[in-house]
Amino acid sequence: MKLAARITQVSPSMTLAVAAKAKAMKAEGLDVCSFSAGEPDFGTPSHIKIAAEKALENGKTRYGPAAGEPPLREAIAHKLRTENGLDYQAANILVTNGGKQSLYNLMQVLLDPGDEVIIPAPYWVSYPEMVKLAGGKPVIVHTSAEQGFKMSPEQLRQAITPQTRLVVFNSPSNPTGMVYTSDEVRAIAQVVIEKDILVVSDEIYEKILYDGGEHLSIGSISPEIFERTIVSHGFAKAYSMTGWRLGYLAGPVELIQAATTLQSQSTSNVCTFAQYGAIAALQGPQDCVEEMCAAFAKRRTFMLERLAAIPGVTCPTPHGAFYVFPNISVAGLPSLEFCDQLLEKHQVATVPGIAFGADDCIRLSYATDLETIQKGLDRLEGFIRQHL
Ligand code: PMP
Ligand code: GLU
Repeated sequence: MKLAARITQVSPSMTLAVAAKAKAMKAEGLDVCSFSAGEPDFGTPSHIKIAAEKALENGKTRYGPAAGEPPLREAIAHKLRTENGLDYQAANILVTNGGKQSLYNLMQVLLDPGDEVIIPAPYWVSYPEMVKLAGGKPVIVHTSAEQGFKMSPEQLRQAITPQTRLVVFNSPSNPTGMVYTSDEVRAIAQVVIEKDILVVSDEIYEKILYDGGEHLSIGSISPEIFERTIVSHGFAKAYSMTGWRLGYLAGPVELIQAATTLQSQSTSNVCTFAQYGAIAALQGPQDCVEEMCAAFAKRRTFMLERLAAIPGVTCPTPHGAFYVFPNISVAGLPSLEFCDQLLEKHQVATVPGIAFGADDCIRLSYATDLETIQKGLDRLEGFIRQHL
């Protein structure tokens, strides 16, 4: 069948593909250690589930407004004002089916053919594909482990052309776990203002930070950067709500209205009763987030110690999210081949760095139990030693 050019030029999500393969192998009875999808292994905290159950009982089972349930839009705007220093009202908020749909909607309403979007690499797999789906052109800025996988202001400045519309900023980052310092965020903001482009700040890992790190929302720095900022966010990571499909986009009213129009002609509204769970997530106790972060912190330390003991493997210390992004070039295999062999021969699922724009590396998510990490790292070490 002849398919539209727009889809034939897009690659499927490698993170989801590897996760699905690992699950299928497990279902066949194989002992797979999966470090694939970025998905917390905890259940959703019970007060969030109870709020959604109550909403279901109270008849929140109908179509709702395309932009989201009014109390949730209010609660999100309140969170962004009080926690992030971003002066948003409910009219600035669109509730979406996850952070993924927020970004998709944004690219669709912002980009015309030929518009350029700057994406620092290593990047989350979906950014370039979403830009392409909207007819835009991804402009990749490569960063190295030596520079902490962070784009410098000079690199950003050099990548900007008259066609640049937007730069994607993701801190803490998927896949590297890197966190920009406040000074680094300010320096990036300065270039955005100077060159008068827009920035989308993907803050989905904002609460998953280690070593006392703090999150600075780029849009909070000054009124000049605020008016050039769009925030993409979601509930999946901090509240272990991946399957709920709940996220949001925050930005100038005109843009939010355009994205609401798109949503009204595509997905209508996000599952109505699920949105009441999101309200509970924002307004309820936050110790669940701290507990999950404490567990991730222990796993991160363990993972880094194990990786450091493998000859030739290097891995910068991540300060946020729940990924490590080690360099495995010592094995002499392209990342796709490396991950394929590791899964097929040793039943360890990892995501090839090529999917994130860095073929020397692989991504491991440590959002899994210590026992799996122990076993999986034994196997990974054995595999690499065979290739030395
Ligand atoms: N942004 C980043 C950086 C991500 O890693 C993810 C998913 N892991 C998302 C956005 C989208 O998350 P979701 O659609 O599940 O809210
Ligand atoms: N975003 C998560 C990841 O990077 C989940 C999979 C996906 O949405 O791509 O693993």
